[in-house]
Amino acid sequence: MDEEFLDRVMGEEGVGRVDEFTGQLWRIWRSLRDQGIHQSRHLGLFRSDYLLHTTETNGEATVSLKQVEFNTISSSFGALSQNVAKMHRYLAATTEYFNSSPFLKAENLPPNETIAGLAEGLVAAHRAYGSSSAWILFVVQPGERNVFDQRWLEYELIEKHSIHVIRQTFDELAISAQVVPDSRILQVKLPGLLPGGVETVEISTVYFRAGYTPNDYPTPRHYATRQVIESSVAIKCPSIQLQLAGGKKVQQVLTQPGVMERFLHDASPHLRSTWMDMWALKEPGVAGSEGVSRARREARNLVLKPQREGGGNNVYKEDIPSFLDTLPEEEREAWIAMTLIKTPEGLGNYLVRAGSGTEGAMKAEVVSELGIFGWALFGGPEKSIEEKEVGWLLRTKGKDSNEGGVAAGFSVLDSLVLVD
Ligand code: ADP
Ligand code: MG
Repeated sequence: MDEEFLDRVMGEEGVGRVDEFTGQLWRIWRSLRDQGIHQSRHLGLFRSDYLLHTTETNGEATVSLKQVEFNTISSSFGALSQNVAKMHRYLAATTEYFNSSPFLKAENLPPNETIAGLAEGLVAAHRAYGSSSAWILFVVQPGERNVFDQRWLEYELIEKHSIHVIRQTFDELAISAQVVPDSRILQVKLPGLLPGGVETVEISTVYFRAGYTPNDYPTPRHYATRQVIESSVAIKCPSIQLQLAGGKKVQQVLTQPGVMERFLHDASPHLRSTWMDMWALKEPGVAGSEGVSRARREARNLVLKPQREGGGNNVYKEDIPSFLDTLPEEEREAWIAMTLIKTPEGLGNYLVRAGSGTEGAMKAEVVSELGIFGWALFGGPEKSIEEKEVGWLLRTKGKDSNEGGVAAGFSVLDSLVLVD
């Protein structure tokens, strides 16, 4: 982990100075480093998202994959996408889709084993921690709707790997979590819930499915609870610094000439070719407003993104000029501009909404966003890296919707069909 790079981009001289939430997270990390506290092994369950981009050369349209963003925290829908793939496979087997398309047959539906794959990442961290009786902690939001995605991982961990999972919110952890002095072992108190009069469980791995939005920290006490967890030797998925590394600002800085190449010495030029143009509305320490002027000029082909996750935070196209009029100058550094991916036109499908039967099937022109899941366990005294690609997600939305989130109500879960 390149701490100097992250400090410069997300710390007090970078986004952390102008964006309150990024600053809060960065200061927790800073304070732990000042105290000499760190667990140098990190787990990431990642999802890299792509849209198809159309370009025209000599009057001929070609399509290629372009990256939308890279998620380092709470990359959701892995388990549900596996189940949706299973459902589509089942429908192919039972109905052959009424011969509606020659492509819709079982051999064109690729396997999707994301549940086992993501669980394997958590198991790798649990083993690296090295205490087989320890539990894995899922930090979740109160009234969590994504529970239907998350539980599958819990079942896989207990059934296939005999690893117990406890789900707790930051509010619950404020009371139940403690870090043992000296050993810095993370314990969660579960009085009355364990056999043999045992009152606490040791946590090997903390899987954050909350904590990626400022709404998860309504009071300073919530940040304090995050800090308690981060100060332990439990392996975090992700650690606070790995969460910061997933910031949109980091993704923009990586596109600058030579930056990615510092980290990936043998980087293929194909990697860069999957990125759209990105720039900062303002670079730290650089005077002038060229970034803003360019955003105004190119607004119709742009999306502006702040340092947030989870959907509903971006500003698109014609909304950009008036948004820029009201954005305080000092907040410009917290935003990046990204050229819009030009998705293929004329693709139709039915979007089916839950609970509304056949009435709920809506025919629409659609856009599909592909997510590729993988995990990485890295760091530790030996600075090792274990990593694996594990599965995929497809979300499909109406062509006219800018946003892409399923839980946010913009898109529906879908499956891939592979064709030549
Ligand atoms: P979030 O962290 O909120 O998920 P994203 O960067 O994924 O933010 O943006 C949300 C949605 O906006 C995406 O799912 C995608 O549908 C759309 N989007 C984001 N960037 C682009 C882009 N450059 N071109 C076209 N659509 C985009
Ligand atoms: Mg996204």
